Amino acid sequence: MSILHATTGVDLDDTQVGYAYRSTEELQLAYFLFRLLRYGRVVKIANKLGDKALRWGLPIQPILRNTLGRLFLGGETLSATLPLLRRLRQYNLTAMLDYAVEASHQIEAQEKALQEYVRMVEFAGKYPELVGYIAVKLTALASPTLWEKLSQGGSLPTYLIDEEKLFHERFSTLMQTAQRYQVPLMIDAEESWIQPAIDSVAEHYMQLFNSGDNILLYTTVQMYRRDRLAYIEKLLNVDYTVGIKLVRGAYVEKERQRAQTYGYPDPIHPTKAATDIAYDQALMMCLENIDRMALCVATHNRNSCMKAVQYAFLKKWAPDHPRLSFSQLYGMADPLSFGLAKAGFRVAKYVPYGPIDRAFPYLSRRAEENSSLSDQSGRELRWVAEELLRRRKGRD
Ligand SMILES: Cc1cc2nc3c(=O)[nH]c(=O)nc-3n(C[C@H](O)[C@H](O)[C@H](O)COP(=O)(O)OP(=O)(O)OC[C@H]3O[C@@H](n4cnc5c(N)ncnc54)[C@H](O)[C@@H]3O)c2cc1C
Repeated sequence: MSILHATTGVDLDDTQVGYAYRSTEELQLAYFLFRLLRYGRVVKIANKLGDKALRWGLPIQPILRNTLGRLFLGGETLSATLPLLRRLRQYNLTAMLDYAVEASHQIEAQEKALQEYVRMVEFAGKYPELVGYIAVKLTALASPTLWEKLSQGGSLPTYLIDEEKLFHERFSTLMQTAQRYQVPLMIDAEESWIQPAIDSVAEHYMQLFNSGDNILLYTTVQMYRRDRLAYIEKLLNVDYTVGIKLVRGAYVEKERQRAQTYGYPDPIHPTKAATDIAYDQALMMCLENIDRMALCVATHNRNSCMKAVQYAFLKKWAPDHPRLSFSQLYGMADPLSFGLAKAGFRVAKYVPYGPIDRAFPYLSRRAEENSSLSDQSGRELRWVAEELLRRRKGRD
């Protein structure tokens, strides 16, 4: 029994609770895949081959659908996610819906993304008990070139001025829909060279749409960045209620490589331990200032989740404090999500959906994440193995 379990009664290691929503067959598939995913080089090669096969139109969709898709994707359309969302609800969880498509330079794709986001908000308005939040990628609504140029400052060429205007029209439409249906949106954080412009859009619209306890927009802060504690401090001193989704950050290798190529200082903390310290410092700063902000603790890190729970207990907060929530990706860290939800905390599972071929980049990222010999991938495998063993023993 962990100290947390003993002192607060919250158990974040209970695989019976964590996997109650999964059939034994699904767990066997998860075990098989998590084991396979540990061979990092094989995963990298498989991802490259998968990408090529999809480009060439080879029929690999059924394989993807029945493997990675089954583990990490909520469905291929919005309505197809409903059975999963209802299953999550039975265990006191909601979903953070994510339309799993990548950034696009094409106007038609950006328009389609806007329409899908609007549909997601309307869907969330129809099922408020199932959907807690909508995740939004600004690079799906305007091209990465625009975000990069805006982030560099200086004047924009005419075609980008038009694109920026179009973006604001799109995002205003989306925010107004979110306001009509009272559905909070969370803007994803992306690479550091496009993030300054994303930050300023997030701040602008948070100021317009967040008021008091009605927090309709969250920004995401990546704590692997060395400059982000200072940024949180700045956000905690604005005159509107900020919403912060706190993550560690997904692009370590890409960030380091670019810094090296262009010869600027690496923006990322030098070690995992330094990122962990920064994350937990930010977590404490946010919790101490919860009267000025809303916080989504978006992590699979057990220690960070435990720290947030301990703080809530120490302060005698009701676990369903309206300004505190947790989120983990669908298919990962289930004992954390379901353990927190069982204890009454607000938990939104991050559920991506989308056509299997277009969701492939998302799925291959999940595969690569689980292939590194990180604590997380080892822990996923241990949890699944433990639950399978428990079920087998239960039958004997
Ligand atoms: C609900 C949810 C939403 C998310 N949204 C976003 C988003 O909008 N933008 C985004 O970028 N990511 C996002 N992520 C991914 C997130 O940033 C992490 O990549 C992922 O969650 C793993 O970190 P962790 O805190 O869960 O756990 P851990 O496994 O404890 O930490 C792994 C993380 O530590 C950091 N790290 C690892 N090695 C090193 C090293 N050598 N030096 C420095 N740091 C290191 C990296 O950030 C790595 O991802 C999201 C995650 C979740 C759960």
